[in-house]
Amino acid sequence: MESKEVIILGGGLAGLTAAIHLLKLDCKVLLFEKNEFPKHKVCGEYISNEVLPYLQSLALNLETLHPKKISKLNFSLVSGKTIKANLPLGGVGVSRFALDYYLYQEVLKRGGKIVQETVSNVVFLEDKFRVTTNNSVFCAKVVLGAFGKRSNLDVVLKRNFISKPSNWLGVKAHYKVNFADDVVGLHHFNGGYCGVSKVETDLVNICYLGNYETFKKYKSITAYQENVVCKNPNLKAIFTDAIIQFETPLTISQISFEPKKSVENKMLMIGDTAGLIHPLCGNGMAMAIHSAKLASESVINFFEGRCSRTEMERQYSKLWRKNFANRIQTGRLLGNLLQKEKLANVVLTIVTTIPFLLPLLIKKTHGRPL
Ligand SMILES: Cc1cc2nc3c(=O)[nH]c(=O)nc-3n(C[C@H](O)[C@H](O)[C@H](O)COP(=O)(O)OP(=O)(O)OC[C@H]3O[C@@H](n4cnc5c(N)ncnc54)[C@H](O)[C@@H]3O)c2cc1C
Repeated sequence: MESKEVIILGGGLAGLTAAIHLLKLDCKVLLFEKNEFPKHKVCGEYISNEVLPYLQSLALNLETLHPKKISKLNFSLVSGKTIKANLPLGGVGVSRFALDYYLYQEVLKRGGKIVQETVSNVVFLEDKFRVTTNNSVFCAKVVLGAFGKRSNLDVVLKRNFISKPSNWLGVKAHYKVNFADDVVGLHHFNGGYCGVSKVETDLVNICYLGNYETFKKYKSITAYQENVVCKNPNLKAIFTDAIIQFETPLTISQISFEPKKSVENKMLMIGDTAGLIHPLCGNGMAMAIHSAKLASESVINFFEGRCSRTEMERQYSKLWRKNFANRIQTGRLLGNLLQKEKLANVVLTIVTTIPFLLPLLIKKTHGRPL
C-alpha cells in the first residue's frame, strides 16, 4: 500500500471514528470487522457529551439518531438509599445498534473500505505491517489496533493482561418499562453495579457488571438477577415491571480492567484495546472516540513528515497517559471498592450523605469537551 494508507483492526466506536477522521484528511482506509453491522453490544449506551464538539467537527450529527438527552444521575446503595445529582456535562442515550451502524455507513459514504473478516495475525517487518485474515494478506505503513476489550489478537500479540484471570461479567438487554428520559440510574448490588437509561427507541437499557464470585453460586442469569441484583429495591422495582425485548440478555465474560500498552508491536492502540475504564464511570465510549482523535492526529503528523515513526509512537503514548491514565485509575479504585461489600457500604453511605462528593467523583472520571 502507498503512503497515507491505514489499516484499522476492529470496527467499534474507536475504529470507525478513526476511519472517519483519517478519511477527512485524505487517507485511504481499510477497516476489518469480524461481525456484521448492525449488531447489539453489551454496553450501558450512555455517552458523555464531551465528545459532541469533536463529532460535529467530523460532520457527524448524533441528533439524526434521536438520542435521549440525559442530565441527571440517580445513584443508589444496596439498601436502596438513593442520592440524586445533576451530571456536570450530561450525555445522550443511544443504542450501539444504531450508533455503530451510523458510523459504519458514514465510513462507507466517505470512501472507506470495510471488510467483514477476522484478522488472525499482524506483524511489523521492514517498516510495514502485514495483516493476515482467513482469506488474504494486506500491507500498510500504519495499523491502528481497535479490537476492543478482548480479542484473538491479544493472544497472538501475547499481551500481558490476557494471561491474568479476570472475574467480571457483563449483562445487557433492552426492556419495555416506565423510566424517565433524562435520567441515568446507577445502582449498586453485592459484587457489582447496574446502569439503567433510555435509548432512542424509547426502550430502557439495563446493563450490569457483576463479579464472577457472586455469580457462580447461581445457575442462571435469571436466578442471579433475582437473588443478587434485585436485593437493591430500586432494581427490584425496575425488573419487576420490565418486559425484555431480546430473546435472552447478551452476556460477556472475562472483562479485564488491567493496564494495557497504548502502543504495541508498533501499532497505536485505541479504545478498549489501550485500556478499559470501569463502566460505572460512563466514559468508555467517549474515551474510545477521544483516543481515535489523538491517534489520527499522530498518524497525520507522521504521514506529513512532522515526526518519525518512533516519535509518533512516543507522542501518542504520552497523550494517551495524559488524557486517560488518571480516569482509568479512579475507575479501577471505585470498581475494586464495590467488590468489598462492607467497605463499599461505608464509603458509599458517606458519598450519599455529603452531596458534593458524587459530582466530584463524576468530574474525576470524565474529560473536558473535545
Ligand atoms: C458492561 C459494560 C457497560 C458499559 N457501559 C458504558 C456506558 O454506559 N457508557 C460508556 O461510555 N461506556 C460504557 N462501556 C464501555 C464501552 O462499551 C467501551 O469502552 C466501548 O465499546 C469501546 O469501544 P471500542 O471501539 O474500543 O471497542 P468495541 O466497541 O468492542 O469494538 C471492537 C471491535 O473489534 C472487533 N474485533 C475484535 N477482534 C477482531 C479481529 N481479530 N478481527 C476483526 N475485528 C475484530 C469486534 O468485533 C468489535 O466490533 C461499558 C462497558 C461494559 C463492559
